[in-house]
Amino acid sequence: MTQPLLNIEPVGFHPNFANSFTLCASWALGTTRAMVEVSQVDRFKFRPGQAEGVRKIKAAFEHGAKTVFLDAPVGSGKSLINLLVARDMLGAYISTPQVILVNQYGSDTQEGGKFAGLAETLYGRRNYPCTYLRSLPEEDGGRPYATAAGAPCIYLAGWPNACPHFSECLYYLARQAAQAHSRTVTTMAYLLLGIRSGLDRPNSGWRERPLLVIDEAHGLAEDLVNFYQAELGPHTLPGFRKKWLETPADLRFRVLESLPPYIDRLKEVLETLQATREFTKKVRERLERLDSAVKSAEDVLYKLKTGTVEWVHTYDSRTSKHTWRPLAVRSLVDDFWGRFNRVLLSSATFFGIESLVRDADLPTPVERVVVPDCFPPERAPIRLLSAARLVYRTDSLEIERAADAVAAVAQAHHSERGIIHANSYHLANAIRKQLPPQVRRRLTSHDPSNRGRRYDRWRADPAQDAILLAVAMNQGIDLLGDLARWQVIVKVPFPNLGDTWVRRRMEQKDGQSWYSGRAMIQVLQAAGRIMRSADDRGTTYVIDTQLDGLIDSGWFDLPKWFRQRVIEGRRLNQSLPGKFGDYATRA
Ligand code: SF4
Repeated sequence: MTQPLLNIEPVGFHPNFANSFTLCASWALGTTRAMVEVSQVDRFKFRPGQAEGVRKIKAAFEHGAKTVFLDAPVGSGKSLINLLVARDMLGAYISTPQVILVNQYGSDTQEGGKFAGLAETLYGRRNYPCTYLRSLPEEDGGRPYATAAGAPCIYLAGWPNACPHFSECLYYLARQAAQAHSRTVTTMAYLLLGIRSGLDRPNSGWRERPLLVIDEAHGLAEDLVNFYQAELGPHTLPGFRKKWLETPADLRFRVLESLPPYIDRLKEVLETLQATREFTKKVRERLERLDSAVKSAEDVLYKLKTGTVEWVHTYDSRTSKHTWRPLAVRSLVDDFWGRFNRVLLSSATFFGIESLVRDADLPTPVERVVVPDCFPPERAPIRLLSAARLVYRTDSLEIERAADAVAAVAQAHHSERGIIHANSYHLANAIRKQLPPQVRRRLTSHDPSNRGRRYDRWRADPAQDAILLAVAMNQGIDLLGDLARWQVIVKVPFPNLGDTWVRRRMEQKDGQSWYSGRAMIQVLQAAGRIMRSADDRGTTYVIDTQLDGLIDSGWFDLPKWFRQRVIEGRRLNQSLPGKFGDYATRA
């Protein structure tokens, strides 16, 4: 796709913070007018900015924008904005990389939900039971927990129609409902797969629609890279001969050469087995394995054959797994964007929109619509403590300084719950060891094996001073009210330089700004964890000095809600003297 001139028209957005109050007032007036217009036809109770947001997005599309960025802070109700724009554009797919958000849309739009009828939700096969396999005795291949993923209707000729449970199959019923509805909510990965299958098989049910909405799209470029990643190993391709990979000269070429005959052979065996029509337990298990291998091999072939992509190859000798990741997804996504007239991307944490447009090869021209933050910034200050510089190999003195600051914050909030974000287990352990006993006794920490369980335990803990020492929980958790009144971001979470793909990405012309941008998005995500409603409150502290520079250099690109909270935090830092000031701030 050629890249036309990027045209970001800031609809309702003013980069100059000094004008934000005027802006807020005009937003409020505009919102009131628009609320009257939209609420005459809608049964929904709008939050400030929602009706105006819908109107501005539609106007942007009408004026020719192909992609609109909806910059909507936590609590502004972007789901309803997305759904109403989708409704008015006469058909849409609404997707998100976060399954938890798909669940939220699902419960809001189902019968009795607050947005009932606005969309149908469709999950991947593994989210539905396979009634047929569950009804069979175990000796015949029955499985009490079988899902529709790997079910016989995938690999048996004549199925699913021939399945005795087809008419009551929850997967096919959901699929039918989703395809009959003009707005379907699903995960990003399932949608990408569906659209790809729709390209080959027009009857697959994945039709073109006027609009694609992607919610939580701040990491879209990396989400696409993850989707187009190709993996090849004994676990995905049983029987694939290792010797086919033993020519180091051009491994990708070798794979492209050896996969088609391998797929043909698998298909031959598959067809022979299907022809026997003796679907014993053993035959079915074999068919399932063969079908899954064919699909994996076809997937690798489909991805790697795109010649204009630069692939970053890694090999894991422990699992014998080869992985190819595209350095950029341009030329892989053409087919995908081409299926929609318009694209709406929404998030509270966009940063570096121009590079996202370039990296994801989004259709242009582009516009940005900003919904104002109606949470008062003084209830959620962000205080940059700059107490330690935490780089890749941080020395013990800096760790000690960081731990001192964490301890001071925890003690200032001695009767309130909080969360400490460390971005590696190494850092979390180093900080924990340095904390005084009176703080350590309040801590819940975790390792990779008990992460979810420990998090749930901490949430359920009735102690009013409980602290979670968390690794990589910047996204996807919702700590409303007393669950957390404060949080500490210990280190700026830069991407891992131990990753070959990250190093190669860093070598690109815009590598440094991409690297900083990825870290900044993680900080923005973390900052949104503890302020979840207008009457909530919570203070965010950042220990690492590296954030100051990132904020200053990217100031006008940062979401306004974040800038306002940083300004409030700076005001507090100046007005509260002492080594780090009095950390405890109460709204
Ligand atoms: S159609 Fe039959 S075999 Fe397929 S998932 Fe449904 S119940 Fe299982």
